[in-house]
Amino acid sequence: MQALMMNSQLMISSILKHAERNFPDVEMVSVTVDNPRHRQNYKTFGKRCRLLVNVLESLGAKLGDRIGTLAWNDYRHMELYYAVSGSGMVCHTINPRLFPEQVAYIINHAENKILFVDILVMPLLEALKEHLAKVETVVVLSDRAHMPDSSLPNVLCYEELLEAQSDDYEWPEFDENTASGMCYTSGTTGNPKGVVYSHRSTVLHALAGALPDVTGASNMQTSLPVVPMFHVNAWGAPYAALMVGTKLVLPGPKMADGETLHDLITSEEVTVSSGVPTIWLALLDYLEANQKSVPSLERANVGGAACPRSIVERFREQHNCTVVQGWGMTETSPLGTIFGLKKGMEDLTTEEVTDLQCLQGRGVFGIEMCIVDENNEELPWDGVAFGALKVRGPWVAKGYYGLSDVPGAEGCPVDEKGWLQTGDVASITPDGYLQITDRTKDVIKSGGEWISSIEIENAAVNHADIAEAAVIGRYHPKWTERPLLIVVLQAGKSLSREDVLEFLNDKLHKMAMPDDVVFIGELPHTATGKINKLGLRKTFEDYQFPVE
Ligand code: ADP
Repeated sequence: MQALMMNSQLMISSILKHAERNFPDVEMVSVTVDNPRHRQNYKTFGKRCRLLVNVLESLGAKLGDRIGTLAWNDYRHMELYYAVSGSGMVCHTINPRLFPEQVAYIINHAENKILFVDILVMPLLEALKEHLAKVETVVVLSDRAHMPDSSLPNVLCYEELLEAQSDDYEWPEFDENTASGMCYTSGTTGNPKGVVYSHRSTVLHALAGALPDVTGASNMQTSLPVVPMFHVNAWGAPYAALMVGTKLVLPGPKMADGETLHDLITSEEVTVSSGVPTIWLALLDYLEANQKSVPSLERANVGGAACPRSIVERFREQHNCTVVQGWGMTETSPLGTIFGLKKGMEDLTTEEVTDLQCLQGRGVFGIEMCIVDENNEELPWDGVAFGALKVRGPWVAKGYYGLSDVPGAEGCPVDEKGWLQTGDVASITPDGYLQITDRTKDVIKSGGEWISSIEIENAAVNHADIAEAAVIGRYHPKWTERPLLIVVLQAGKSLSREDVLEFLNDKLHKMAMPDDVVFIGELPHTATGKINKLGLRKTFEDYQFPVE
């Protein structure tokens, strides 16, 4: 028997319409290059989104076109999120911090004809000019007074374009499985891969994110997403906030700047903020060095990398603020798990609660997870057994843009049984707390950005005296993880750490330069002849980088 319920499609535009009607006066505060403290409310925001759709259509953009953004967290980027997706185009957020050749690869792979670019990112685009043959129009996110000089063809001014349009526009309803957004992940080996979100996945993800035991977003809160909007949709904050009427404070390019973050938190009375551990470290150090505090901040969400215990403790002891750790991936929109205490845990000691905060959190409804052994057999949730972590659910990717989405096929991240293979290794406690213990994917995450181990290894083995090289990520107090290069020399040769670093200096980007080089007689190998990275990470478990 069929139900007798309306089959309304889950549309991103419905979030905007809801916010405009129910929270017209709620503010969105932004830091931009052309205005250190821009303010507008959700009513004005809705109007400007409609102006922007008319701009997009006047530029010739069509349904399904991937519209590229290279921008920080601010109101104009928010307008792009809603106008592009809401009108049936695909909002393709691009990380300007990637290596320039990766940025060019991503723009070309997604076939972006129109790019919306922050003033500060223009020099990067100028440098890539020769490699962006398919880009027809560049819109600078600025008013006329701040427009930079540019040698690029067809560079337009965002505010001028908006001024020339009317806000007459009706948001269309269409199939909720239509692509709404796109974000490339470089957390895989090989070229970056495009994850394509739908209206349905985005709305469901935002609904789950707004649950009380998840992010606890509400009309009473003021949220400062420090996680970039080019990084998995700022973990869903731009959608969840408008769904429940949270005031948004957007830091623009000032993301790792302790002074600006402190200023925004105190003056706007921010109650909740989200970011990677490196950001929190910068803020805590700034506050400590300047004897400042953040009394309004109740909660700091942390994810993207394991949260060091010191961050949990310093936030609690110095600022009476709770750290809430979550785990996720670009492929999981990203919400997968999040910290929360269970009923019955009220009597835990502070130390015991801290232990739980340092785990990666519990499953959120909508995400199923399991851990499996090398024979793909499911392992128990006993806090001891560990294996490959797999997840599935309505906001988990089933394939990458331009690659096969047939489960088990080459290039598809989903196995034959329909689970996304995360590339993380984990255990799960009987209470359902996830603990990431290792990674099978051969990448390093430094300050929230990926570094490819293979790129460093390939550069190192080009040295005539190096027989074999392996790179693993090791704990670093500031960056969470940094590359350690492990080298086997050719018989009878000798090299110093400095020799190797000097050799690599002009072959690698600064971020990818190993922090240290160690020499060993032999590297461990797996049965199939690959370097056994898990074994190496075990050998170098207690390794510490030299203090700078
Ligand atoms: P994001 O950085 O937004 O989480 P990415 O796709 O760039 O998304 O990275 C996902 C990967 O980051 C995960 O597969 C995992 O390796 C790592 N990661 C994310 N959150 C955590 C966490 N809380 N603890 C440890 N590792 C994490």
